[in-house]
Amino acid sequence: MQLFTHAVCLQHDPGPGHPESPARLRAVLQALDQDRFAALDRVEAPRATREQLLRVHTSAHVDRILGICPESDTVRLDEDTLMSPASAEAGLRAAGALVAAVDAVMQGTTTRAFCAVRPPGHHATPDSAMGFCLFNNVAVAAAHAIAAHGLKRVAIADFDVHHGNGTQDIFQREPRVLFISSHQSPLYPGTGTTEERGVGNIVNAPLSPGEGSYEFRALWNDALLPRLHAFKPQLVLVSAGFDAHSNDPLADIRLQAEDYAWITERLVELARAHAGGRLVSTLEGGYDLNALAVSASAHVGALLD
Ligand SMILES: [Zn+2]
Repeated sequence: MQLFTHAVCLQHDPGPGHPESPARLRAVLQALDQDRFAALDRVEAPRATREQLLRVHTSAHVDRILGICPESDTVRLDEDTLMSPASAEAGLRAAGALVAAVDAVMQGTTTRAFCAVRPPGHHATPDSAMGFCLFNNVAVAAAHAIAAHGLKRVAIADFDVHHGNGTQDIFQREPRVLFISSHQSPLYPGTGTTEERGVGNIVNAPLSPGEGSYEFRALWNDALLPRLHAFKPQLVLVSAGFDAHSNDPLADIRLQAEDYAWITERLVELARAHAGGRLVSTLEGGYDLNALAVSASAHVGALLD
């Protein structure tokens, strides 16, 4: 199994007090430094190319993000999305990690991959940065799998506590992509109702504040995993946010690290049943550093087994 990351992803800095801090990725990488992860094949993420980004973003958006390079301090794109001097480069490496991971599993270099990158991606829409996200990394990966590898069925499973509105926007008219999301509602960004179905390829499963392991597992077991199996994906992509953990400061769902091991095992089974085992996961949210470290460890541990 391969682990894609890049040092510049630690330098993207939205400023003091911002929850999407470099300390998040440090906590994940430190956790993955334990002996039990010694088998991870660590790979430096390349940059995504303009062509790869343009499959899901407008040229105006790509130009805007790549054109912002403050000499110091930060530039604010919206209420909670900021860029520092290293941010454009970090955005390119984060999206590039996903592209390289897709190439690796499609070429058989590895079966599964985890991208320990930031900024996260699932709120970025075709034409705008949003919710700490610059480029939609997982969407770039799905589009690459279709365009470069000719896949006809790519599944994206998103268990971040926030709805992946950007991913949904990008693929809502693309039947080759099935987007499945569990998320808290009401919560930022306010989208993700069960009525939002795209062309039958979008499945949203809201959880209510205060719900936890039981409701989460029931939702995936009864509704989401059967939809994923019926789709018979040729590749499984995962937007792995860990902010549904009970200790997370930005939401009110009560998952524990074991729940992340559980959902990961189910998604590995899905990949083995239909996709030759091919699964690429990427870090999205998760804002309590300890909860993030143990949850990401549980996730990657289950990917390694
Ligand atoms: Zn989130």
